[in-house]
Amino acid sequence: MTTLITIQPPEGNPYDLAIDGTEFVDPDDRATEGIDTAHLWALPGLADAHAHLTMTALDDIAGTSEETMKANIPATAWAHVERGILVILDKGGNTDVTLLSLDHDADLRPHVEVAGAMIHPDGGYMKGYGVEVEPEDLVEHVRSTAATRGGWVKIVADWPRRGTGPATNYPLDALTEAVVVAHEAAARVAVHTMAHAASEAVAAGVDSIEHGPFLTEEDLRLLAARGGAWVPTIGNQTYWVNALGEESSGGRLFAAGLDQITANLPLAEEIGLTVLAGSDLAIPHGQIATEAKLLRDHGLSDRAATIATSTAAFDYVGRTERLGPGDTADVVFFPENPYEDVTTLDRPELIIHRGRVID
Ligand SMILES: [Zn+2]
Repeated sequence: MTTLITIQPPEGNPYDLAIDGTEFVDPDDRATEGIDTAHLWALPGLADAHAHLTMTALDDIAGTSEETMKANIPATAWAHVERGILVILDKGGNTDVTLLSLDHDADLRPHVEVAGAMIHPDGGYMKGYGVEVEPEDLVEHVRSTAATRGGWVKIVADWPRRGTGPATNYPLDALTEAVVVAHEAAARVAVHTMAHAASEAVAAGVDSIEHGPFLTEEDLRLLAARGGAWVPTIGNQTYWVNALGEESSGGRLFAAGLDQITANLPLAEEIGLTVLAGSDLAIPHGQIATEAKLLRDHGLSDRAATIATSTAAFDYVGRTERLGPGDTADVVFFPENPYEDVTTLDRPELIIHRGRVID
């Protein structure tokens, strides 16, 4: 027996589809029931491209035990599924325990790709968090650790030093070679940059720029030309502007970065750069619709902000086939067309994950 539904994409004509187990199939005479979705708009799911399933809040970066990291996964994973977020890029954590989300029941979590322990040199990130790798050891470290089933390596490219401000963690040649060896291991590289290592990270060939408030126009064009991604995490950027205050040097840096993000987003849309929505703990798990609205408020169209929070991430993880016969039966329905109003992403009306209706 199959279940019949109607798919109305944000653009294009409606069509009928049936659900058979965890897959979509062509409607046929085996359909014994139907769900009336003809009045709703369908996306293959929402996506969060910068989440940390082993943590529950930004404070956890001060240090989380492996037991706590592991214990957090079921609840944080489900918090996404129940809001229609069906694809997650987990951008790393304190240890490789992050990879355990891949072992969690696929019905109870989004489709995930995961980075392991975050890589930085001594002084180049939160002390004791992730793995400390000095510049001369970076390439060998990535060579020996990149080939995990998570598919991602996470490197911190810049970080403030007390009294002297933000500094670049790794020289360009080391970062460039690290990217080469990661790619040889079929892994992709995500780089944290909140200051001025953004251009070097782009020049080094990294796949995804996390935060990246100081990307230049040339960086955006280079990244777009090679199919790279930019995850601006505006909710996170805004959090730090408010937390540090504009009278502090850190707060001024984050405020300037937010202005630059706002200037860059329309250009990113114009040149077809893959922009992805990321919550990064500043926005609670499951509430990526908040970041979607911020992307719109800071310069993307409603259409582009919706794509950044949905299909662009599906494309990026290789799920280019969806909402058709033979594809995983993932679909989320919204009461209005999200291409016309991105705020509708906060109001999913029906979520079907791997063929099952989520209450
Ligand atoms: Zn993060």
